[in-house]
Amino acid sequence: MCILLNAGRIGSARTQCLYAFRALEKPMDDAHLGGILRFLKAEEHLPERYGLPNEAFLPLFFTLRFGGAWCYASATLRTVSIMKKTTVYDDTAKAGYTLEELFLFVDPELVSREGTVCRLEKCGEEEERLRVERPFKVGIAPERIIKMTVNPRSMQISTCELPAETMDFEGSTAFTIAHEMEHLEETTIRGRHLWEFRFL
Ligand SMILES: [Zn+2]
Repeated sequence: MCILLNAGRIGSARTQCLYAFRALEKPMDDAHLGGILRFLKAEEHLPERYGLPNEAFLPLFFTLRFGGAWCYASATLRTVSIMKKTTVYDDTAKAGYTLEELFLFVDPELVSREGTVCRLEKCGEEEERLRVERPFKVGIAPERIIKMTVNPRSMQISTCELPAETMDFEGSTAFTIAHEMEHLEETTIRGRHLWEFRFL
């Protein structure tokens, strides 16, 4: 699940629009509206806090709202946002939560890829899933890394900047990163069509 965000389409978009749309769709009380405004205000400070333009953060805000991975590209800036989920579960208490670590990579480069995994992926720009090949492991080297941690149990969101070092991912996170990097390099995702499969 991802869509290439390019400068032409959303370069002038403001993140507030995302909530403004929803807000206009249905009536809400003052407390609800106040909560949304507080959230937006806190969120709006993030690009400034990290010295990045608002557009750079759009993929991260999209991942936070809608899940999945997103990317943004303009002539001077490329960012990718991905999510890593970890479920913490207490078998005795039969209770847990799924911690989300969102990574915003600024001007990332894929510096290593290992293995080949054939899989079906749905891209936001395609009508149906495509059969693609992804590396099982990737190393990504961004110029900057902003990490957002979302805890559904405490309902708290924190952010920090990580050292700009190569990060290694594998499995579904690696697939997602490779997908978004392909968007940045090729614009569209290339793969085999579902109709090329044969029923036995
Ligand atoms: Zn895609």
